[in-house]
Amino acid sequence: MIRNSSLGLCLSGCRSLTQLAELPETHQLLRQTCRDYADRELMPIAAKLDKEHVFPAKQIHELGAMGVMAMEVPEELGGAGMDYLAYSLAMEEISRGCASTGVVVSVNNSLYIGPILKFGTVEQKKQWIAPFTTGEKVGCFALSEPGNGSDAGAASTLARQEGDQWVLNGTKAWITNSWDASATVVFATTDKKLKHKGISAFLVPMPHPGLSLGKKEDKLGIRASSTANIILEDCRIPLENMLGPRGAGFRIAMQTLDSGRIGIAAQALGIAQAALDCAADYAHKRTAFGAPIGKLQAIQFKLADMAVAVESARLLTWKAAILKDSNKPFIKEAAMAKLAASEAATFCSHQAIQVLGGMGYVTDMPAERHYRDARITEIYEGTSEIQRLVIAGQLLKEYQS
Ligand SMILES: Cc1cc2nc3c(=O)[nH]c(=O)nc-3n(C[C@H](O)[C@H](O)[C@H](O)COP(=O)(O)OP(=O)(O)OC[C@H]3O[C@@H](n4cnc5c(N)ncnc54)[C@H](O)[C@@H]3O)c2cc1C
Repeated sequence: MIRNSSLGLCLSGCRSLTQLAELPETHQLLRQTCRDYADRELMPIAAKLDKEHVFPAKQIHELGAMGVMAMEVPEELGGAGMDYLAYSLAMEEISRGCASTGVVVSVNNSLYIGPILKFGTVEQKKQWIAPFTTGEKVGCFALSEPGNGSDAGAASTLARQEGDQWVLNGTKAWITNSWDASATVVFATTDKKLKHKGISAFLVPMPHPGLSLGKKEDKLGIRASSTANIILEDCRIPLENMLGPRGAGFRIAMQTLDSGRIGIAAQALGIAQAALDCAADYAHKRTAFGAPIGKLQAIQFKLADMAVAVESARLLTWKAAILKDSNKPFIKEAAMAKLAASEAATFCSHQAIQVLGGMGYVTDMPAERHYRDARITEIYEGTSEIQRLVIAGQLLKEYQS
């Protein structure tokens, strides 16, 4: 089991730029543990999970036992008590083995547990976090709607108070983990006139009367994770299930996504690294014109460009995580990390297919899966266009001040 108390992570002393060059020993150990697990337990079954759209229940249990389903959660609540750098290392390695498993881990850690850890009461943390640390239960995050994704402030799902209950009505779209989840954070407006300032966050158990699921989306990639609409029809929950103050929902959602992007950057890095590994391995083994294709300059240039894309995105991801762990501003860096890592994943998986030639195009080799899995990292938790808006917004603020 990975726990801060057993690894003795130095949470204050090692948050420096030197970590960008060489990780502290404790983080190296964590990375190796997750790497070994991914090689042994995820890589061999990733293609089957993808093909059959199977939720990786056994693997999620095992990752829960390792502490990976609740990396940032204090040990007294059942979590690993680690930092975000540790979380991003685990996310990269898990996603390198299986990107679908990676997104299940990411949504549970950063989108479901993250906002409860930050904004929940002591009681809410006990009730809604502790059972979600072991891998037996996973949570989800319901912000997007059929009519609005990037424009999350336009949420039309309604929450009205009736006596000692909130009554929720509306449809949430594209919700990762929804078919496998035991609870969700739902964003709904308590006062439409106030626009985004009227949105509040709520905790809803699953299954629950008044909550139903739409069909499982048949996706291009990350096919072992479930994605579906969550439909709320007079869904009643107690008043105490509001998370954070009334009207703070939009702020909670945006802050959650700021952190979550580091996890998705790490997921994209894992996919990019897997594509590079696959291409480099093939370049050694495949011969053409009497020599390994790895001797050809055209192939070497591709491998070099892939390695540069992966390594630069990794440094940005680690930098964003280290800034967050040091309680320093990290919004711009998290958006940069997600943008760079998702573009690296798309680029590397595209290049890997080219290096593999025909073998890149069929499911016998993992390159085509990496190509399909990579694409979502440019869409969810803010599209690449939205990341650019975030980066430019922060940049202009810096220049102004
Ligand atoms: C597999 C999958 C899993 C998901 N999981 C979740 C989840 O768990 N929870 C959740 O709440 N949501 C989830 N989403 C939703 C996801 O976050 C949204 O799809 C995403 O934010 C984009 O929103 P949209 O699809 O409505 O696209 P739109 O917002 O309609 O955007 C369409 C296009 O317009 C561009 N665009 C929009 N506004 C601007 C702008 N201001 N400037 C420049 N370009 C702009 C976008 O970049 C995009 O290219 C998931 C989506 C998918 C596909």
